[in-house]
Amino acid sequence: MSKVIVVGGGAAGMMASIWAARKGHKVLLLEKNEKLGKKIYITGKGRCNLTNACETEALFKQVMRGGKFLYSAFYSFTNEQVIAFFESYGLATKIERGERVFPSSDHSSDVIRTLQQILKKEKVEVRLHTQVKEILTEQPEKGRVSGVRLADHTVLGADAAVIATGGCSYVSTGSDGDGYRFAESLGHTVTQLRPSLVPLEAAEPWIKDLQGLSLRNVKVRIRKEKKVLYEEFGEMLFTHYGVSGPLILSASGIVNDYMDKMPLFMEIDLKPALTREQLDKRILRDFEENQNRQFKNAVGKLFPAKLIPIILMLSGICPDKKVNEITREERLGLVELIKAFPVTLTRFRDFNEAIITRGGVSVREVNPSTMESKLVPGLYFAGEVLDLDALTGGFNLQIAWSTGYLAGDSIP
Ligand SMILES: Cc1cc2nc3c(=O)[nH]c(=O)nc-3n(C[C@H](O)[C@H](O)[C@H](O)COP(=O)(O)OP(=O)(O)OC[C@H]3O[C@@H](n4cnc5c(N)ncnc54)[C@H](O)[C@@H]3O)c2cc1C
Repeated sequence: MSKVIVVGGGAAGMMASIWAARKGHKVLLLEKNEKLGKKIYITGKGRCNLTNACETEALFKQVMRGGKFLYSAFYSFTNEQVIAFFESYGLATKIERGERVFPSSDHSSDVIRTLQQILKKEKVEVRLHTQVKEILTEQPEKGRVSGVRLADHTVLGADAAVIATGGCSYVSTGSDGDGYRFAESLGHTVTQLRPSLVPLEAAEPWIKDLQGLSLRNVKVRIRKEKKVLYEEFGEMLFTHYGVSGPLILSASGIVNDYMDKMPLFMEIDLKPALTREQLDKRILRDFEENQNRQFKNAVGKLFPAKLIPIILMLSGICPDKKVNEITREERLGLVELIKAFPVTLTRFRDFNEAIITRGGVSVREVNPSTMESKLVPGLYFAGEVLDLDALTGGFNLQIAWSTGYLAGDSIP
């Protein structure tokens, strides 16, 4: 039996603690917050999209960074096993659109409660309000892990330590980058840290007029000059500074490498089900029905009310013009505007609004079969502190569960 200290009581840390305890180790879980799983609580808008029910192989397609590294972890504790694990402890789950898995109760707190019950059953000692300041090794800066030093200077001895301190997004949940500092002080490389799955700012002054407008079934295309970087159907949202919503958050994960090469150009196809020809016919029909009305009063059926003033402005057609006076060129310009509504993306929002951190402890220095550091024996990593991230849909928590499992289960 070894003494194991797990630093961080989030998804990865709780899972690592449970499996280290199941291996027969004496496990101490240290969490600086007043409770466990603060970030889990806010996941999935409070409903916790805890994994995805896709084929296990399909998980890799959703991983933006570290897919290869995750092979052992995902196959050691698959998405199916995660669901079975929670169900076996009484947490009923359900599958929604996009194979997203949620607790049937729709309460993320039930996921946390279930994990707490398992921690108790496995006799994991949990200490809250306990911030780790330093990971100690037998010789300074190298050698085996020997324990941790707390913020109050107490030293706790251990044979192994798991760093599961999360990334640095939504700092209020406790993840403020401590794990990166621990890793660096022990010689590990931390790759560039960036906010990802995050809203984007836009240059257009009229964007704030669209605040709160949600568009469903649109197609978004993001370009850098002529190069198309992202193209997807779905739902998006306008905010007072720019754009957000599922399509945009995913886009931010995919175009993340262009963060320093802004602006990017976004085109929203407001009527993706119609070709340009079909849309033109549809507009002609609407215009015929409204022949003597002014342009501004003839487009109400085509767009949500908030969008109409912006469309009128960008179309270049005088809003008071009679519909039967609109030229073919003007009408075709309108078609183009609807098929490629332009937004200039200028900036990513910061870590406070980012669902995940891109970058982290370099996975090159971590053994993918055990999550143990290749530099410091007895030191393990799990979860978002590693340079791993995925798109939305339950994949980031799956990373936390799988790497947490593998770290905990690998401690000899
Ligand atoms: C708004 C939002 C919604 C999300 N929704 C989803 C979703 O629905 N599905 C999904 O798959 N993913 C979602 N994610 C991402 C997911 O929550 C994270 O990827 C996941 O929680 C990472 O788990 P973790 O255990 O690695 O880190 P965290 O959950 O961040 O846990 C780290 C813990 O370590 C503690 N800690 C840090 N430093 C110290 C220290 N020095 N001493 C002691 N304790 C310390 C922190 O207090 C924290 O409790 C969402 C993220 C956000 C922000």
